Amino acid sequence: MIRVRFAPSPTGFLHIGGVRTALFNFLYARQQGGQFLLRIEDTDRQRSTPEFEQEILDSLRWLGLDWDGELVHQSRRLDRYREIAQELVSKGLAYQSEGAIKFKIPKTEIKVYDIVRGEVTYDSEEFEDLVIMKSDGFPVFHLAVIVDDHDMEITHVIRGEDHLTNTPRHILLQQALGWKPPKYAHLPLIFGSDGTPLSKRHGAVAVSEYRRQGFLPQALLNYLALLGWNPGTQQEIFSLQELVKQFSLKRVIKSNAQFNPEKLFWLNGQHLRMLPGEVFEKQITEFWHDKMEIQPEEQWRKLIALYRPRIQTFEELQEQSVYCFSDPAYTDEKMLQEIRSNSGLITLLKQWGKAVQELPDFEDTTALDQKTRQIAETAGLKPKDIIHPLRFVLTGRIASPGLFELMSLIGKEICLKRLHLFLGQ
Ligand code: GLU
Repeated sequence: MIRVRFAPSPTGFLHIGGVRTALFNFLYARQQGGQFLLRIEDTDRQRSTPEFEQEILDSLRWLGLDWDGELVHQSRRLDRYREIAQELVSKGLAYQSEGAIKFKIPKTEIKVYDIVRGEVTYDSEEFEDLVIMKSDGFPVFHLAVIVDDHDMEITHVIRGEDHLTNTPRHILLQQALGWKPPKYAHLPLIFGSDGTPLSKRHGAVAVSEYRRQGFLPQALLNYLALLGWNPGTQQEIFSLQELVKQFSLKRVIKSNAQFNPEKLFWLNGQHLRMLPGEVFEKQITEFWHDKMEIQPEEQWRKLIALYRPRIQTFEELQEQSVYCFSDPAYTDEKMLQEIRSNSGLITLLKQWGKAVQELPDFEDTTALDQKTRQIAETAGLKPKDIIHPLRFVLTGRIASPGLFELMSLIGKEICLKRLHLFLGQ
């Protein structure tokens, strides 16, 4: 049976690169009917914290990357690493050196067969003897990893390319212990748009940050699947089930992957619009429930329905709809002057204000629409000649959802108040 693992170190938040590694392992396991195991590599006692571990587990759960079986902690397996280090010493393959234990690198050629990059040959002459146990009795990463991969019966090690140069050393250790090495697949590194490795400088890298910003886990996974894997078709939008079906290690690309936040936003918008209506409503309401004025419920429903086609993340709702809750700031000076200096238009806006007074309220968007058209036509203008300025007056912006729906949401009283303020009446 295929058995893979994700092996994060709880020395930081789960970041974009880590999720991509977890995802590729998960997809491979699910597709092959295998198992996806989780191992916490917490032997660095100074830098590992329970908070980081919790954050990693919460993020994986939120993403829906459920692991199989018991969680493994390296910190609970120290005796096992000591036992193996001793075995190597007693076989004469490792030796004590200043309190530490070093593995004697045999002089040989090592062939690493990597599923992504093919065969890579190394000459062990280039390697120095390797510390496997530190003088404080804690194992070095290399030893813990190969012991665990063996004990956990891992068949495929899928990890970042930053580990590629460790692999020949791991193979030498496995050979010294008479263990069959697992198969290896090293995933391309992720770079920012400036060609340097992805880091905080490029924006959010922690998964929890994306969660806070109102991204959908399925969109994040969709995006990360495409970051290093080429589906071989034009398809860009994938559900997790589709990814499980179509994923293949053979189609992992060799060159560095480039993180493109705009694409992630775009994909999130696509997934957001694919949600069934009631799911969208529930999730966005949960997201905003203690941060935004969402009463009365009827108004809130109207608001989210109106903005659903226009937002790419839940978080964008507030910025995009801010003028629904407070009077607009007219920061676009040019547009402001254009309208204010056009006396014909000002007269028209005044006429419009008077005409819609007759409407009992702004609930009926068809009535609003008709009135507005009439006024434009009577003045020998096109509807857009009054719709655009009205939008600006009400929102301070040149783009918004449909004007009449928006008016109905904002309400007659506030709309007319804004108009009068604008006209200085
Ligand atoms: N703990 C290592 C890391 O976080 C992963 C080691 C491995 O996958 O073999 O980079």
